[in-house]
Amino acid sequence: MMKRMALCGVACVLFLPSALCAKQQAADLPALKQEAAAEVDKLQTFTQQMVDQIFSYSELGFQEFETSRYITGILEKNGFQVERGVAGVPTAWMATYGSGKPVIAFITDIDCIPRASQKPGVAYHDPILEGAPGHGEGHNSGMAVNVTAALVLKKMIEQHKITATIKLVPGVAEEILGTKAFYVRAGMFKDVDLVLGVHVSHDFGTSYSTGDGKWSGLVSVQYYFHGKAAHAAAAPWEGRSALDAVELMDTGWDYRREHLRPAQRSHRVIINGGDQPNVVPSEAAVWYYFRELDYSHIKDLYDLGNLMADSAAKMTGTTVDHKLVGSAWPPFLNKVIAEDQQKNIEAVGMPKWSDADQTLAKALQKEIGAKVEGLKEKIEPLKEPEKNPTGGGSDDIGDISWNVPMVYMMYPANIPNLPGHSWANGVAMATPIAHKGSTAGAKVQAMTALDFFLQPQLVQQAWDYFRNVQTKNVHYESFLSPSDKPAIEMNKEKMEKFAPELKKYYFDPAHYKTYLEQLHIQYPTVRQQ
Ligand SMILES: [Zn+2]
Repeated sequence: MMKRMALCGVACVLFLPSALCAKQQAADLPALKQEAAAEVDKLQTFTQQMVDQIFSYSELGFQEFETSRYITGILEKNGFQVERGVAGVPTAWMATYGSGKPVIAFITDIDCIPRASQKPGVAYHDPILEGAPGHGEGHNSGMAVNVTAALVLKKMIEQHKITATIKLVPGVAEEILGTKAFYVRAGMFKDVDLVLGVHVSHDFGTSYSTGDGKWSGLVSVQYYFHGKAAHAAAAPWEGRSALDAVELMDTGWDYRREHLRPAQRSHRVIINGGDQPNVVPSEAAVWYYFRELDYSHIKDLYDLGNLMADSAAKMTGTTVDHKLVGSAWPPFLNKVIAEDQQKNIEAVGMPKWSDADQTLAKALQKEIGAKVEGLKEKIEPLKEPEKNPTGGGSDDIGDISWNVPMVYMMYPANIPNLPGHSWANGVAMATPIAHKGSTAGAKVQAMTALDFFLQPQLVQQAWDYFRNVQTKNVHYESFLSPSDKPAIEMNKEKMEKFAPELKKYYFDPAHYKTYLEQLHIQYPTVRQQ
């Protein structure tokens, strides 16, 4: 098959008009997709090394310097053109290969979670480095999926003379919803026809429209109160407490919360509560996430938050300013791409889990008190979108999804029934569970891209849905004001504190086959009964 296709490539270039050539390629699509899946299989060791390497870097949002250096290095070595520091974000980049239409962009996150350090393959809390960040969401596997698929597609574009462009983009600082609205503002998707995003899951599936209804959009805002310092015992009347203002704002918000729509979700952490009790705090700060189901309701919450802050400042004789540090539209995913992708997911099927994989999964589920059911073995059919969305988590891919037709595939590289954003979600992420799940995901990425590369009418249909259904009555408006900038200084101190120690644990593929081997971890390690 490969030989025949290669010959077709030559014939197309030499003798045939390109429309005929594209027609021939579309006729060969099933074989090309099989070839792509076989090529992904050949790269299993490469995929595993990427999963392990990025797991070992464990970098927080906006500080993904090693991670980005590593991935862009691989892409450049393979002939991709890399533009670094895009949208004013030092760890962001865009890699491109090929030329002409369609242009398909792959996106996936690369940042990790604070305090989630965890030894892979160990079914109880056992950090690699106490207190350090770790991949307690599994974002270390996404680039292994996308880069593997992109390298396979690059080879096929060359061999079969396919006209298409592939782009790769990292989700920097996704955990703080920090970049994608800025990517959109910078015009990074202006000439992109489709975006295929991937995210780690225990499921293998995709969705369209508002999916299961468990998405919210949000704004992430920090309020900085400024008061006046004084001796807290000798002359408190001389002081004005910024911390008082934080506490009054929080109290006000909690009273008002009862009278907000049930769909709202809001939460906060006090990021500065003052220095010591005998000094009236002149500076204090609180960080809020305001979540709702759509732009106007999110905007209302944001306005209400600002009102609470201003009122608290008035009550306490302090002043306040606020800084938007993240934002996200609720994602809306494309039906045409999802229907095509679902077929590819079903064709690839769930990975074959070993007894060791299942033992790890069940032991971890037991350890954390979750339902003990091991790893998923079945693929669910594509569901109708939920008619009454309840809201839930957020992802800044939402902003991209309102600017270009997009899907967000979940690939099965983790264990079900985990709490999310914790050490437990890191346990599987540098084990065969993550390796096999990433290979399965890469196959679907490559196959879905081929479907759209070779059937231009499908690209058209995806845009018809985007224009005539999705954005018929809703038009994207960014939460960003022209003066908002990416919060690139975030996590700098935390990362600098841990980076020298973490370096000692970076995966070394020159000496070890896997990260489990390097850490001398018996797979799986479970509690003795
Ligand atoms: Zn995520």
